[in-house]
Amino acid sequence: MNAPTDDNTPSKPSNFLRGIIDRDLEQGTYASRRWGGSPGDAAHHEQGQPDPAKIRTRFPPEPNGYLHVGHAKSICLNFGLARDYGGVCHMRFDDTNPEKEEQEYVDAILDAVKWLGFGWDSNFNGQAESHLYYASNYFDHMYRAAEYLIEAGLAYVDEQTPEEMRANRGDFSTPGKDSPFRSRTPQENLARFREMRDGKHPDGSMVLRAKIDMAAPNINMRDPAIYRIRRATHHNTGDKWCIYPMYTFAHPIEDALEQITHSICTLEFEDQRPFYDWLVDRLAEGGLLKQPTPRQYEFARLNLTYVITSKRKLKALVDEKHVEGWDDPRMPTIVGLRRRGYTPEAIQLFCERIGVSKADSWIDYSTLDIALRDDLEHKAHRGMAVLDPVKLVLTNWDEVMGNGHLEPCSLPALPHPPEGTESPVRQFTIGKEVWIEREDFEEVPPKGYKRLFPGNKVRLKGGYVIECTGCVKDADGQVTEVLATVVPDTKSGTPGADSVKVKAAITWVGVADGVAAEVRLYDRLFTDAQPDAGGKDFLASLNPESKKVVTAYVEPSLAQAHADQKFQFERHGYFVADRKDHAPGKPVFNKITGMKDGNWAK
Ligand code: ATP
Ligand code: MG
Repeated sequence: MNAPTDDNTPSKPSNFLRGIIDRDLEQGTYASRRWGGSPGDAAHHEQGQPDPAKIRTRFPPEPNGYLHVGHAKSICLNFGLARDYGGVCHMRFDDTNPEKEEQEYVDAILDAVKWLGFGWDSNFNGQAESHLYYASNYFDHMYRAAEYLIEAGLAYVDEQTPEEMRANRGDFSTPGKDSPFRSRTPQENLARFREMRDGKHPDGSMVLRAKIDMAAPNINMRDPAIYRIRRATHHNTGDKWCIYPMYTFAHPIEDALEQITHSICTLEFEDQRPFYDWLVDRLAEGGLLKQPTPRQYEFARLNLTYVITSKRKLKALVDEKHVEGWDDPRMPTIVGLRRRGYTPEAIQLFCERIGVSKADSWIDYSTLDIALRDDLEHKAHRGMAVLDPVKLVLTNWDEVMGNGHLEPCSLPALPHPPEGTESPVRQFTIGKEVWIEREDFEEVPPKGYKRLFPGNKVRLKGGYVIECTGCVKDADGQVTEVLATVVPDTKSGTPGADSVKVKAAITWVGVADGVAAEVRLYDRLFTDAQPDAGGKDFLASLNPESKKVVTAYVEPSLAQAHADQKFQFERHGYFVADRKDHAPGKPVFNKITGMKDGNWAK
């Protein structure tokens, strides 16, 4: 696990990326850059004055799935750096692959990034200006870049079969072999490439390759493919193209056209960096890209225990109905985390705490839950809910309190309200019958048990001291009612409250004003901490107990919650009113996470 950064310091902890940015700002690496219109067909124009102190990052998802907690790390990093340095982060869809991309994903991704608390709608000076981009809008420019490379003798059309190409690429110990098509003249290559573009050749029959070095130790430099033929309708450009740029060719051009300064990606792209540099340098020499060109920096991706972050595997969970959709509260997708009740603030805090480094590591899932508790502890209203209810009858109630009497009670919703403010107050009533947790009664108490057993006194939290007298059982010996008597004049908040000493206070909900609620108790989706590491079958460790639904009773303030409102159910943990299924008066709650410790006993 990464060394956690100091949680209490408001200033952002340093990391190697901040070090690089600080150095670039100090040295004025990008000071000469004119923040003016960009070359080619880049669909944006900068207004305002150039400012050497500004950085430009980008978040470049491929719209082929829903974002997950790993993407959240990348989002917080890229948008967070831009925010902290007064720069701009571009929201860019890397939509160069026509087959798997869909508008549904585009919309969901934009929504997720906004929800996380980031935007792309203003420039360096805070003026309105969109920084939403689509790689597919640069296809014309990419095509021209390819023709330039051909003319400069730096690219050729290769008609080897894919098998021949693979065989001639060599491997780590064997250098590659030149293709027989490698020595074609620029004129021949240009004609061939234009035929590719014009649909004269079938899919897969030939590719355009960069001409670098078939003996390079880095296999990515052995004449990588940069354009392929693929007849597919693109979500943005329709049927305009039947050739598409390869990701490794497109991405550096996208960055450079947008004048990104620091192109931050995950470690698996480290071996691609030499090609990234080769490409932007060659195109800058040819005047197709502006100097100074962007540079790529890699960081370790997020691995979170009990979680998988492969888009393909997450899709399998949804398609094979192991979960109830992309936003199932057990899913590590942003929509899933949101529905589960994780807050944007908690996710941002989590990302700050795990930091960035170049070393691969696993982060313990509890890190996310700790961030959630730290965020909600002072914000979430408290409330009482009984998740495993059994009825408690106060047999002397009518006699000492009055027949059918309901006594109003109250407790603060926030035990530690923000400085200078007062906590809102929760109102509820106590009467002859209340719901309590089944585990709060024992006919024969185990050693050290302080809750209800015959002869013992406890406090009903916010209500009265009661003394247990026994229970009623059904034919199977199952307790159906717990019996007790109320001790008059011991109501919480009255002078008599301390007249009787008790060792425990238990949570409860009045039968008269408690509201039945559906409560979904979620646990981790996998029983294995690294469900898909080392090629393991992740479906084999699906947790059959990951979702349990109970009918609980909640106090009136909880029943009136608005959808998405978060609470601390006293002693049980943090819960959220489900975004989709909850309605005031017909409550549905999701468990986000438990309490740090079982702090329900007095
Ligand atoms: P694909 O296999 O479809 O490319 P991907 O997870 O890389 O999947 P992208 O849409 O390309 O998805 O990701 C967008 C950005 O999010 C990339 O810059 C990628 O490096 C980053 N990213 C993806 N997964 C993680 C992760 N687990 N931790 C940190 N960053 C991640
Ligand atoms: Mg990717």
